[in-house]
Amino acid sequence: MIPAAFDYEVAESVEHAIELLGSTEDPKLLAGGHSLLPFMKFRLARPATLIDIGRISGLSGVSDGGEHLAIGALTRHHDLNHDPLVKEHCPLLAYAAGLVGDSQVRHRGTIGGSLAHGDSAADLPTIALTLDAEIVVRGPDRERTIAATDFFRGFYETALEPNEAIVEVRVPKTGAAGWSYIKFRRRALDWATVGIATVVEAGNGTIESARIGLTNMGQTPLRAAATEQALAGAARDRVAEATARADEGTEPPSDVSASSDFRRHLCRVLTARAVEEALSR
Ligand SMILES: Cc1cc2nc3c(=O)[nH]c(=O)nc-3n(C[C@H](O)[C@H](O)[C@H](O)COP(=O)(O)OP(=O)(O)OC[C@H]3O[C@@H](n4cnc5c(N)ncnc54)[C@H](O)[C@@H]3O)c2cc1C
Repeated sequence: MIPAAFDYEVAESVEHAIELLGSTEDPKLLAGGHSLLPFMKFRLARPATLIDIGRISGLSGVSDGGEHLAIGALTRHHDLNHDPLVKEHCPLLAYAAGLVGDSQVRHRGTIGGSLAHGDSAADLPTIALTLDAEIVVRGPDRERTIAATDFFRGFYETALEPNEAIVEVRVPKTGAAGWSYIKFRRRALDWATVGIATVVEAGNGTIESARIGLTNMGQTPLRAAATEQALAGAARDRVAEATARADEGTEPPSDVSASSDFRRHLCRVLTARAVEEALSR
């Protein structure tokens, strides 16, 4: 449980962090440390240099970007949970951030760290995918914006290049749409056995559109595409039929928390509940 030896650098600015990424041996950025340090203790990661970005000013906080909220990479889960702008314009994100780990985790962990870590059992990657967020990353030569749909590539794998840092997450406002996040877990404070995020727009008796994100149903966060298509333009009484397809295209793991089949079952049942909950908001 003791990490391998490493060097430690403090980045004074984003530019300094990127310069250090290019000039130090086998580096890793350190934000809240609540995913990286456990990985290092289990020797699943052995960076030679940690670049601490936790003290860079201007990288945290939420601002109103018009159609979206601009969220600094260092914004902590606790702050997302309590921020008035996030509560008003992206309540799904505020709510889900309040379900991450325990109070200590939420006071240290950051949205940038959570997305960069790319754990399909984590909550915020699914929320970013469901909300069609964009991730702004900066490297030595350029800044680029990556859609959440293109960001999560595989098992703990993202579209980030080794010398890039996430600087901002842009989350479109959800307006009056209904929403829900159901996080099924065996014990309070655990990661999700399965999580279902929904954003639903509905008119009189008809569902106009539904976005549904799945936590821990594959190697990356996923969208329940078949159910989304079945719900678009459907009458509200078709929810049960459409959500019976929620696990289509998923490859849920089997582990100590649940078998793959049980996860599929949970996915179908909880998606129906989440859509109904979103419709009732
Ligand atoms: C006991 C415990 C319970 C937890 N429960 C949950 C849970 O229920 N749900 C959940 O979603 N998560 C959970 N987590 C994980 C937690 O949310 C982490 O805080 C989060 O996943 C990572 O954020 P961080 O700031 O701590 O990142 P770090 O651990 O500092 O970094 C994680 C990875 O991201 C990289 N990184 C960090 N910041 C950036 C950046 N700006 N740009 C590029 N790369 C970057 C690092 O190099 C590293 O590879 C839990 C953690 C613990 C310890």
